[in-house]
Amino acid sequence: MLTQLSKALLRQTRAHGARRFYATQNLDNVYDIVIVGGGVAGTALACSLASQPYLKQQRIALIEAMDLSNTLTWTAQPDDFSNRTVSLTPGSMRFLQDIGATDFFTPGRANPYSDMRVWDGVTDAHIHFDASMADTTQQKDESNIAYMIENVHLQHALLKRLEQCQEQGAALDLFTKTRVASIEQTQPSGDTNIDALDLSDWPMVHLEQGPSLRARLLIGADGIQSPVRSFANIDSLGWDYNAHGVVATLKLDSPEHHTAWQRFLPTGPIAMLPMGEGYASMVWSTKPHLAKLLKTISADDFVQLVNAAFRLNHVDLSYFYKELGQGQLPDLAGEVAWRDQVMRNDQKRLPPKVAAVQEGSRASFPLRLRNSERYVSDRVALVGDAAHTTHPLAGQGLNQGLLDVEYLTYVLAEGAREGQDLGSIHLLRNYATERYLKNIVMISACDKLHRLFSTDFPPVTWLRSLGLSTVNNLDAVKGEIMRYAMAIEQPMASKPSSS
Ligand SMILES: Cc1cc2nc3c(=O)[nH]c(=O)nc-3n(C[C@H](O)[C@H](O)[C@H](O)COP(=O)(O)OP(=O)(O)OC[C@H]3O[C@@H](n4cnc5c(N)ncnc54)[C@H](O)[C@@H]3O)c2cc1C
Repeated sequence: MLTQLSKALLRQTRAHGARRFYATQNLDNVYDIVIVGGGVAGTALACSLASQPYLKQQRIALIEAMDLSNTLTWTAQPDDFSNRTVSLTPGSMRFLQDIGATDFFTPGRANPYSDMRVWDGVTDAHIHFDASMADTTQQKDESNIAYMIENVHLQHALLKRLEQCQEQGAALDLFTKTRVASIEQTQPSGDTNIDALDLSDWPMVHLEQGPSLRARLLIGADGIQSPVRSFANIDSLGWDYNAHGVVATLKLDSPEHHTAWQRFLPTGPIAMLPMGEGYASMVWSTKPHLAKLLKTISADDFVQLVNAAFRLNHVDLSYFYKELGQGQLPDLAGEVAWRDQVMRNDQKRLPPKVAAVQEGSRASFPLRLRNSERYVSDRVALVGDAAHTTHPLAGQGLNQGLLDVEYLTYVLAEGAREGQDLGSIHLLRNYATERYLKNIVMISACDKLHRLFSTDFPPVTWLRSLGLSTVNNLDAVKGEIMRYAMAIEQPMASKPSSS
C-alpha cells in the first residue's frame, strides 16, 4: 500500500517534472533502462516493465552473465524436481499473474500448500497455521499459504513471457552469456549530446564482449555481490550466519502434498516443503561442517538423518553427527528406528517419512544477512538480492525482491506517464522510501527468529515454548502473522491502469 510519505514524495516529484523526457527510441546502444542481472528478480522486472503501457516506449536492456538457453527450453519431467526451489506468497503469485508470467507455468508444477506446522526441536512446543486463519477479506478466494515452485520453472516462464513481450513490440533487448565487465560514469569521447539528449551523467556499462551501453537508469538486479551497487558506491551492511542451507529433493512415503513442515533445531531449522504428490524440497540450515557431512554421507544415511532430524532429540542427533563424521555408524537405520519407537512421537504431528533422496540433488549455500545502505542513487536503483539478502527460514527473500520489482515498476510508470526523467533521484526516492523500511522489518524478523531458536539455553527455550504455545491458541494473532507472511496486506493501493 502506498504510504502517506510516498504519496507526498510523488507529488513533490511531479513538481520537478516541468520538462518532459522522452524515450531514447532508436539510438544505438543508448537505453532508457539497463537491468544488470537476469536472475528471477531482473527477469521479472524486465517482464513487468515491458507489460506496463506507460513504459512500452522505453528502450530496455537486460544483461545476464549466464547462458539461459537451457532455462528457456526447460520442460518439466515427472518424478524429477530441481533442488533449487522457492516458496512464493499469494501476493507474489498475483503479481506474476498480473505481468503474464503464470500463463507460461506448467500446469500442476507450482504446488500450493494450505497447512504449515512449525515446532521447537528442544521443547516440542508447536504452532499450526492453515490458510483459512488469514481470513483474507481482499482475496477471499485465496485458500493457500504459499506455492512451491522450482526456480528454473519460474525463470523459464518469465523468459517465455519476455519473448512474448518482444513479439508484441516491446523495445527490449536481452543479452545473455554477457558479463558486465565494468561501469563508469561518463563517456570520455565527448559525444555526450545525441539528438538533444544530454548523456553526460548517464552510466556507461561495458560488456565483456559486445558494445558498451549507456543507461538513463541503471538497475542492479545482480545479486549479493552486485557490481551495480559497487559502481554506485553503496555499502552493503550485514553479516554471515556461519551456517549453510543444505537443499535436496526428497521422495516421501506418502502422497500428501499440502503441508509444509519446519522444525527448529539448535543447529538451525530443517524444512520439508511439498513439491507434488510424494515429493518435497528440503532446506536444512546448519553449521558448515554438518552441511559438509550431509553432502558426503551415503544416500541411505542421509535419508535416515533427515528422518531423525524431524523426530529425535538434539542429543541423539549430535551423537549421529559425531559417529558418522568418524565413519563409525554401520547401522544408522536401526539406531534411528529404535530411538523413534522409544520416543513414542505423535505421528499425526510429524511429516511423512523420507524414502529416498533424488540423486545429485544435495547442495549447499552459505547463509547471509545483508541490507544496502541505500537502494537508489542518481540514475541507479537496486532490487532483489542486490539490495537485501535474508535468512531463508521464512522463505521471504525472493518474495521481497518481487515486491521491490512491483513497486519500482509502479514508480517508473508514474514517472513515464508524467514525462519525468526515469533516472532522476527525485523519482527513484519514492521507490526507496516505500521498500526500505518494509524490507528491514522482514529481514530483522527473520534474524530474530533465527537467534531465538539457535539456543538450547533453558530460560530462552522455556520462554519461546511459552510464546509458541500461547500464539498457537490465539487465532487472531496467527491470522495477523499469516496475512503478513502471505503478503496479503501489501498490494498497491493504486496502480497505473494496464490498458
Ligand atoms: C537455500 C535457500 C532457500 C531459499 N528459499 C526461498 C524461498 O522459499 N522463498 C523466497 O522468496 N526466497 C528464498 N530464497 C532466496 C532467493 O533464492 C533469492 O532471494 C533469489 O533467488 C534472489 O534472486 P535475484 O534475482 O535477486 O538474485 P540472483 O539469483 O543472485 O541473480 C543475480 C543475477 O545477476 C547475474 N550477474 C551478477 N553479476 C553479473 C555481471 N557482472 N554481469 C551480468 N550478470 C551478472 C548473475 O549471473 C545472476 O543470474 C532462498 C535462498 C536460499 C539460499
